[in-house]
Amino acid sequence: MSMYDLSSTAPPNSFNLPRRLRRLADLAYNLWWTWNSDADRVFRFLDPELWEATYHNPVRLLRSIDRQRLKAVTQDRYYLDFYDDVIKAYDAYMAGRDNTWYALKHPDRLHQPIAYFSTEFGLHETLPIYAGGLGVLSGDYLKEASDLGIPLVAVGFLYTQGYFVQRITEDGWQEANYHNLSFSDLPVHPVLNEDGEKIIVSVDLPGREVSACLWRVQVGRVRLYLLDTNIGSNLPSDRELSARLYTSDLELRISQEILLGLGGVRALRALGYNPTVWHMNEGHSAFSTIERARELTAGGRTFDDALEKVKASTVFTTHTSVPAGHDEFPLWLIDKYFQPYYSQLDLDRQEFIDLALNQQEWGDTFSMIILALRMSDQRNGVSALHGQVARQMWSRLWPDQPVDTVPIQHITNGIHIKTWIARRLKHLYSLYLDPDWLDRLDEPEIWEKIERIPDEELWEVRRHLKRKLVAYMRERVRLQWTPGKVQPVQVVASGVMLDPYALTIGFARRFATYKRANLLLRDPNRLLDLINRPGKPVQVIFAGKAHPADEPGKRLIQEVYRQVKRPEFAGRLVFLEDYDVNLARYLIQGVDVWLNTPRRPNEASGTSGQKAAINGVLNFSVLDGWWREGYNGRNGWAIGEDRDHDNSEAQDIADADSFYQTLEEEIIPLYYERSADDLPSEWLGWAKESIRSLAPRFSMRRMVKEYISEMYLPALPEL
Ligand SMILES: *Cc1c(COP(=O)(O)O)cnc(C)c1O
Repeated sequence: MSMYDLSSTAPPNSFNLPRRLRRLADLAYNLWWTWNSDADRVFRFLDPELWEATYHNPVRLLRSIDRQRLKAVTQDRYYLDFYDDVIKAYDAYMAGRDNTWYALKHPDRLHQPIAYFSTEFGLHETLPIYAGGLGVLSGDYLKEASDLGIPLVAVGFLYTQGYFVQRITEDGWQEANYHNLSFSDLPVHPVLNEDGEKIIVSVDLPGREVSACLWRVQVGRVRLYLLDTNIGSNLPSDRELSARLYTSDLELRISQEILLGLGGVRALRALGYNPTVWHMNEGHSAFSTIERARELTAGGRTFDDALEKVKASTVFTTHTSVPAGHDEFPLWLIDKYFQPYYSQLDLDRQEFIDLALNQQEWGDTFSMIILALRMSDQRNGVSALHGQVARQMWSRLWPDQPVDTVPIQHITNGIHIKTWIARRLKHLYSLYLDPDWLDRLDEPEIWEKIERIPDEELWEVRRHLKRKLVAYMRERVRLQWTPGKVQPVQVVASGVMLDPYALTIGFARRFATYKRANLLLRDPNRLLDLINRPGKPVQVIFAGKAHPADEPGKRLIQEVYRQVKRPEFAGRLVFLEDYDVNLARYLIQGVDVWLNTPRRPNEASGTSGQKAAINGVLNFSVLDGWWREGYNGRNGWAIGEDRDHDNSEAQDIADADSFYQTLEEEIIPLYYERSADDLPSEWLGWAKESIRSLAPRFSMRRMVKEYISEMYLPALPEL
């Protein structure tokens, strides 16, 4: 099987489609449709209600759509023209791999595959195998790798239950509901060998062997392989190994990480891949380096020799500044799971443990990030500030070096613009930017022409997007409304009273305490006064999940929810349940201001504000992560100063004060100041400056190109 074989991707005869529309099956099974040519409309048009009811899932749509309707469509000239255009664009894209950026720039590298490991991939709402920012970043990465023609192959898990569905009780308590996914409804293919049997990979866990089958997701030109242990030959408990993301049970967790690391390498081998570079996106997959070292020692090399080889071809990206965010295992667990490997690697126990030993006051642990740092030669954090924090945090691994020479670089995160830009804005930009702007997203010159967009046209689209968000919130509540099950106060808390013309602030992110969702509620009376001023209303929309085991995070949601319910706020504070990429799209496109209040320097990068920025939304954020690099004084606002605090209480007080003051003195007046033609011209000037200054720099295109030049090329062997 070759990674360059890009023949038809749909399973044969899957939908019994009319001949004229049979290529819909190919489209449904390639996520290309999620970011190109408005191709989602090819599906939506068939049956808009079913499209919503299936949560934008073309596989389910094509399977359940009324056949009469399909037949009728084959007579619709307008539809057929659009369909033909989309199929043509799709075929051209898939056939165009010899003309991609990478093919032209590094033609002799095309046959050196790059393996990319991540525990989560956030590609689309129908594939809920991600929890948050890390997953969305991996998903965006694959899409851009496809666009640029990078020979990338990715590995992760197909979780049978995905991430949880969030419900908030009347009292503000988060409930986590898990549903089994039906894989036959998803755009995934079982991976079979020539005899039509499932390809299986196995790893040894204590006292047993655990096997996984593989599923393939086609992301444009890139393939993503997903491991799934829910197969008959496994013990019932092992069948659940790949059921959920990020369990807090340590044995489950180490088993998952062994499966991803060792099983992931074996999966690529079974598929015939021989990657030249191995990129570990976060430390969860660091056991892959152990497997690769084992392969080499089994081939007769010494461990030191194997280690050198592995390191030279390994890239590691760390994503968190919060020490508790790193996986660690007690040493007895490592003995239990890895004992048999010590001798296979030609190491004694202590030598193995020393690869990742973390000595702390409360005892010794085996740290996945230390393993990842030790087993890779190319390492990076995800913003300039995070790079500094990471060098500081891990300088003890390089005790002979000054902190600023610790070999951890940084590449600031970005977003896949075609995924996150509103369709209407894309069309508006197409009228005023150069015709090939979508192929040159990372070039600052392209975005200079944003200035040409007339204020009234930009304002018209901005207002449309906010109305769309408000309509969507109301529709969600309407569908949930069952007297007795949902209380009226929950209906109000879900946004039915929002005003589509008022200044609207969005705050959506994971509810971890360092993100301080409650910062703006520190002085509720001050907030009340600010948002209820006559003629200048302000509304705030919150959304976000807490990890089910994170009690402080769940209490934070409750604290916010209790304020949201207070009648004095007049329905202007809102909490939307079940934040996911679909809701994220509505929010980052529809609000006016995107708020981010992490306790600096804990936000390694953040990407939601970048998504907001390309849609003409203004950021209002602590100078942490990406915003510290993006903020220029004319493209949004800063909360607090460009410095760290020693005392987090003092930091919270100062930041809350800065928040209220900037909102009152700068943001509200700027938004409500209207010129003679009733346009907020100053505001729109800021919005254009935000798009112009931020879009190219925080594009996934800039980011992937930097990974190529700074991380991958140094790891690739000389030609
Ligand atoms: C973009 C995104 C994130 C990451 O955003 P942050 O700014 O890092 O909080 C998390 N969840 C979803 C659903 C997203 O779309």
